[in-house]
Amino acid sequence: MALEGGCACGAIRYRLTAAPMIVHACHCRDCQRLSGSAFALNLWIERQFVEAAGSEPVVFAVPPGGSGKPHDVFACGKCGTHLWNKYHAAPGDTVLLCGGTLDDPTAVTPDVHIFTRSKLPWLQLPPGARAFETFYRITEVWPPASLERWRQLGTG
Ligand SMILES: [Zn+2]
Ligand SMILES: [Zn+2]
Repeated sequence: MALEGGCACGAIRYRLTAAPMIVHACHCRDCQRLSGSAFALNLWIERQFVEAAGSEPVVFAVPPGGSGKPHDVFACGKCGTHLWNKYHAAPGDTVLLCGGTLDDPTAVTPDVHIFTRSKLPWLQLPPGARAFETFYRITEVWPPASLERWRQLGTG
């Protein structure tokens, strides 16, 4: 099953040739601002597994915010849809793909909710959802197959 998606105007399309290593719901203030919403749904995946077609995305450098680390937003230059993010602090060449741009966003559910310290109070997480006030230790949360991919990114 390949996940596919694209921007609102259709100028950029993408296809994921592997499953994401992990799916985050991030409730940090940066993600709230950038998404204009309550949280961001992020599919963390190696860039080599994102096959993009159509227009080249435009890149916006976002200054360091709550996380203290800068990152780039890749968006459609025609319609402004944010498609994926690149966090320079993360090792290897990975992106956080914006889950709302999937053709079928129901195809993924968050593995973990992060930065719930700034979660909006009216939003209730599902019972049993894995959640952290800030970030977490990857080795304690990720499944073994994802950890193996993480190691291949050169993280030791
Ligand atoms: Zn577009
Ligand atoms: Zn965030």
